[in-house]
Amino acid sequence: MRKTLVAGNWKMYKTPSEARAWFKELLERYPTTPAEAALMVSFPSLPAAQETLSDTVVAYGAQDVSAHVEGAYTGEVSVRMLADVGCKYTVIGHSERRSYHRESDALVAEKARRLLEHGIIPILCVGEPLEVREAGGAVEYTLSQLEGSLEGVEIEEHDQLVIAYEPVWAIGTGRTATPEDAEAMHREIRAWFARRFDLAFANGVRILYGGSVKPDNAAALFAQPNIDGGLVGGASLQVESFIALLQAA
Ligand code: PGA
Repeated sequence: MRKTLVAGNWKMYKTPSEARAWFKELLERYPTTPAEAALMVSFPSLPAAQETLSDTVVAYGAQDVSAHVEGAYTGEVSVRMLADVGCKYTVIGHSERRSYHRESDALVAEKARRLLEHGIIPILCVGEPLEVREAGGAVEYTLSQLEGSLEGVEIEEHDQLVIAYEPVWAIGTGRTATPEDAEAMHREIRAWFARRFDLAFANGVRILYGGSVKPDNAAALFAQPNIDGGLVGGASLQVESFIALLQAA
């Protein structure tokens, strides 16, 4: 059985003080839920996450990492730094980084390698833009991104990796993939893992859906057999709605 993961992606929202207060409120109001909760926060908020969330049921992590180990790379943040502040997960290959920062599949694969070397679980994002979906190429595009972003990446266990399928046209737009469309893509992704690794790996790896997940559509999405939770932007910013997402699991 795969445990549902509800991962908030805070993007460039919330200061460290806002984050600290938010974490405390979440812990005070934490609901009964079968799901695992995780919050992917900005780098400066990681020490606040470490202070308030270490040894609690709520996991946390970063939204990106440098592909370099260390050195003269002004502005970059290394995986050792993330490990030192206790990150369990880290998002890589988000479509906002792929498009605004021109991140290639090869770079994302480098980042996956760095994280795995330090025992941090990559939440690897893939997903097609609107014109590709409309032209009927969504599956091919997404699987090719997956292939490229994991090229040469050595993974032994299914719990060392999480995938987030995030169709670009659904991110922050209020337009969600239907549970059936998302499920169809998740099935393709799982089948890809069965070919690349084996059936046990494919059956164990968690595949999240992302793109305008909200309290009112989460239950239908999470109920799909191959959707193992969500990577959630907008609806993860309020404690209230984040709790509702955990309860929808
Ligand atoms: P959204 O963002 O939930 O606001 O659409 C999802 C994401 O970018 O991970």
